[in-house]
Amino acid sequence: VQVLQVEQTVQWMDKTNTKIQENKEYLTTLDQAIGDGDHGINISRGFQEVMNKVSGQAYEHVADVMKDVAMTLMSKVGGAAGPLYGTAFLKLSMTFKGQDVDYALFSQGIEDALNGVKQRGKSDTGEKTLVDVWSAVSERLKQEEKFDGSVLEETARTAMENTKDTLATKGRAAYLKERSIGHLDPGSVSSFYLFEAFAEVINE
Ligand code: ADP
Ligand code: MG
Ligand code: MG
Repeated sequence: VQVLQVEQTVQWMDKTNTKIQENKEYLTTLDQAIGDGDHGINISRGFQEVMNKVSGQAYEHVADVMKDVAMTLMSKVGGAAGPLYGTAFLKLSMTFKGQDVDYALFSQGIEDALNGVKQRGKSDTGEKTLVDVWSAVSERLKQEEKFDGSVLEETARTAMENTKDTLATKGRAAYLKERSIGHLDPGSVSSFYLFEAFAEVINE
C-alpha cells in the first residue's frame, strides 16, 4: 500500500481483535506469571468493544477510526493497558487528523504514539513493557521508506521475544525484580499481535 485506507484500518482492528480473542488465555497466563493475570481479559474486552464500535460505521478519515478506538479503549479497559493503548491511538488520531496516511505520516504517528505512551507510563525502552515493541517498530519505520509487512512483523516479534530476558522496572512485574526475568511481557505480546495484524493488512 502507498496510503492507508479507512477500510484497511478497520480490517487492522478486526484482525487485531481476532488474534487477541484467540490468545486471550495465553495473555492471561503470561500476566499470571509476572502480573495479576488479567491482561487477556482486559485487552480482549477492549478490542471486542472496539469492533462493536467501529464495524459498519462510515468514516471519512483513518484518524476518525483511531479516535473511536482510543475512546473505547480508554473507557472500557481497566488496568495499566487501557489508558496506555488509549493514549497510543489518541496520538495516532491527532497526528493523522484530516489527512491521507502515507508511509511518512504513519511513521510519524507511531513515533508520536510511542512518546505518548512513554509519557503516560513514565516509562522508557528496555523496561520490559509494551514500549519495547512500539519503540522497535518506530525505529524500524524511520529506517525504511515504504510499507513492508514482513519487516514490521519481524521487528515487532524480535522486540516482543527480547522482553523475556530483561528485568522489569515498570508495571506490576517490577515488584518481582530479578524474578521477572525469563518471562515474556504480556503487553509486549498484545502489541506484537497489533503489529502482526497491521503487517497482514498491508501485505494483502
Ligand atoms: P495491569 O498491570 O494494571 O493489570 P494489564 O495487565 O492489562 O494491566 O497490562 C499490563 C501491561 O501493561 C504490562 O505487560 C506492560 O506491557 C504494560 N505496562 C504496565 N505498566 C506500564 C508502564 N508504566 N509503562 C508502559 N507500559 C506499562
Ligand atoms: Mg494485569
Ligand atoms: Mg490488573
